[in-house]
Amino acid sequence: MRPSPRNDGVDMPAQTYLFPCLKDNFGVLLHDPETGATASIDAPEAAPVEAALQKTGWRLTDILVTHHHGDHTAGIGELKARHKCRVVAPRNEAQRIAHVDETVGEGDAVKVGALQGRVIDTPGHTAGHVSYFFPADKLAFVGDTLFSIGCGRVIEGDPEMMWQSLLKLRGLPDDTKFYCGHEYTDANIRFAKTIEPNNKALAARAEEVARLLSAGKPTIPATIGAEKADNPFLRADVAEVAQSVGLAGSPAWKVFAEIRERKNRF
Ligand SMILES: [Zn+2]
Repeated sequence: MRPSPRNDGVDMPAQTYLFPCLKDNFGVLLHDPETGATASIDAPEAAPVEAALQKTGWRLTDILVTHHHGDHTAGIGELKARHKCRVVAPRNEAQRIAHVDETVGEGDAVKVGALQGRVIDTPGHTAGHVSYFFPADKLAFVGDTLFSIGCGRVIEGDPEMMWQSLLKLRGLPDDTKFYCGHEYTDANIRFAKTIEPNNKALAARAEEVARLLSAGKPTIPATIGAEKADNPFLRADVAEVAQSVGLAGSPAWKVFAEIRERKNRF
């Protein structure tokens, strides 16, 4: 049951449509069947978003931007010109994003039709990065903060900031499905095995991912619950993980920083 009752009392779950963009970006549409509203989460490039709209028959009403990087924003201008859609972007870096209509930050409500989302500040990859969480459907759109079995590079923030952002996402319900900005899962698994070679959940996930990729399928969405068990970047406060990188007893963010640094060199 949805915590927020609809006018007609009918439970209509959100729909999503996932598709590849650019080299290894994901595009994803979030659709409210009740009102017909559809949001593109980021806009890496216009053409694949248009193709996804054609295929689904959905009407683009909103673009929810996670951060200012070009591979998440390059398609905004063209899409907005064609669809007159609303562009929602993180307040703390909106000045670096063109065509913004509305800015948001921690705790703000964002509606896509009747779907009610909440903004979570997740800085670190960029200084103003946000994620969008839709609690009734347990869907999270996390941009380049959390990847399946990985996390984004810490470019504008520092490791402690990024760790705090990841903790916020880790605190979402275990059955939350999250959509991230890139298909990096395979390389992430190869790295994760160097940190936790004996992690059984990771080994099982590696098999599942190999099956998905060989069938030409995406490896996301993944769930927060699964990531808690197999993503080393969410496990920096697990004693065995700290031990594995030679930092037993250190603060979790330092363990996280070491894992991130190793991944940068991997
Ligand atoms: Zn990025």
